[in-house]
Amino acid sequence: MAIICPGCLLELPDRHLDPPPPCRFNASGECWQAFSDLFCYTVAKGDAAFIHQHAVDAYEAQHAGGNSRPITAVFGLIGLYLALEKGYSGREVQRAHMRIAKLRRDWPRLEPPVRPAALTVMDVLNVSTGPERDAMILQWVAAVWESWADRQAWVREITGGLVDRRSRK
Ligand SMILES: [Zn+2]
Repeated sequence: MAIICPGCLLELPDRHLDPPPPCRFNASGECWQAFSDLFCYTVAKGDAAFIHQHAVDAYEAQHAGGNSRPITAVFGLIGLYLALEKGYSGREVQRAHMRIAKLRRDWPRLEPPVRPAALTVMDVLNVSTGPERDAMILQWVAAVWESWADRQAWVREITGGLVDRRSRK
């Protein structure tokens, strides 16, 4: 038996794993486990640029919908936008998220794209650890951002109004 993740549509063997809290991610337990494996890898890297943040944002933006809180999609997308179009490192995205969280608390609910991104967390995990996997994380980030094409203009506008360039560092 296989189980299909409601967020990214990844199909994995059903191991009857508990899904993540529904308010956090719209995901199957099996997909969530794969993300947990990646999570351990990115945290253990301990890199100054903090690539971990990009992985979290990609996973959030790809697992919105269902009963997930609106902030899941919004913060994921803001992170992807800052990374891809503004060249922010993961550490810089993390700081921007903290500032934005103080400025605004209520967010609209964004409906996830009908067509899922071409890459999932599993595509990242399938690549051997090190520079190749890190490059794949960035490809995954780009694929998820692309899947939200309809919302990109909104994300640029909302982020531009909240993030002050001077406080980037
Ligand atoms: Zn998934």
